[in-house]
Amino acid sequence: MANIGFIGLGHMGTPMVENLLQHKHTVRVFDLSEEAMAKAAALGALPMGSIKELVSNSTIIFTMLQTGEQVEQVALGEEGILTILSKEGLYIDSSSIDVVTSRKIHALAKQKKIAMIDAPVSGGVAGAKAATLTFMVGGEEENFLRAQSYLNCLGKKIIYAGPAGNGQAAKICNNMILGISMIAVSEGFLLAKKLGLDPKKFFDIASNASSQCWSMSQYCPMPGVLDNVPSSNEFTPGFTASMMLKDLKLSQEAAQYADASTPLGAEATALYSLFVEEGGASTDFSGIIKMLAGGEV
Ligand code: NAD
Repeated sequence: MANIGFIGLGHMGTPMVENLLQHKHTVRVFDLSEEAMAKAAALGALPMGSIKELVSNSTIIFTMLQTGEQVEQVALGEEGILTILSKEGLYIDSSSIDVVTSRKIHALAKQKKIAMIDAPVSGGVAGAKAATLTFMVGGEEENFLRAQSYLNCLGKKIIYAGPAGNGQAAKICNNMILGISMIAVSEGFLLAKKLGLDPKKFFDIASNASSQCWSMSQYCPMPGVLDNVPSSNEFTPGFTASMMLKDLKLSQEAAQYADASTPLGAEATALYSLFVEEGGASTDFSGIIKMLAGGEV
């Protein structure tokens, strides 16, 4: 069984640690939050006093942090992952961060001859708990193959996306489409209702017609159409609007960097910014339908 070091014990990190422990790996953990450390210790993980201590005692390192700045902070620097990790080690960054920062960290890892992959996830907290995450992996293929047995403890689909940073690229393009499609489905259902269509009847038609998509058929934002989705549970997340806004902003940074035109991505970013500013941050992202309706739906 492997010696794994896990940095970032938030909503996603803690259940991921629990799944690694269930596969009998030794898991050393570090987080700035003492509460998160205590929770992981109660699950059977070994809390470490610093990143240096964690990395010195581990072969496989995971990070599951919020932002590119946080990942840079723990990966680079005198006592960071890339300075301390041995040449036999493997660094897996599962945070969702910008492509440029991810590629910068990969380049430094390559220079130091340390194996690294970027492996952001889709599937949310429920997927992290149930070990059904989808991993999108960027980096050298041999490192992807080496990581597979660990990622298999955490997810159902592990997909190789190509060279360094391509996992992050796949993640933000996917989520840009998701943000846009959620707004499109919301508008369609609101208009259908105003035109006198019963939402369930419209769902039966549209989910079997050419506008069918995941935002509609699996996660319909119109309350009362599907059971067990946030719209039928007062928009309790799920995936919060602030998380969606974070990913949309990353998509717009990437579009600027790559000189790509994404007018609907830009519009979705503006609409989610407004929704978050108006108090929707911790609402499920499908709750944007309420703002589009001008209040309650
Ligand atoms: P979170 O904010 O719950 O957890 C982040 C953790 O990192 C916190 O416990 C924080 O204390 C810790 N941290 C921050 N800086 C640190 C440092 N320098 N050293 C050690 N620990 C540090 O975030 P989350 O919801 O678990 O998300 C993690 C990543 O996964 C994000 O990039 C997010 O975009 C992505 N993601 C989240 C979801 C979701 O539904 N929550 C879904 C898919 C992807």
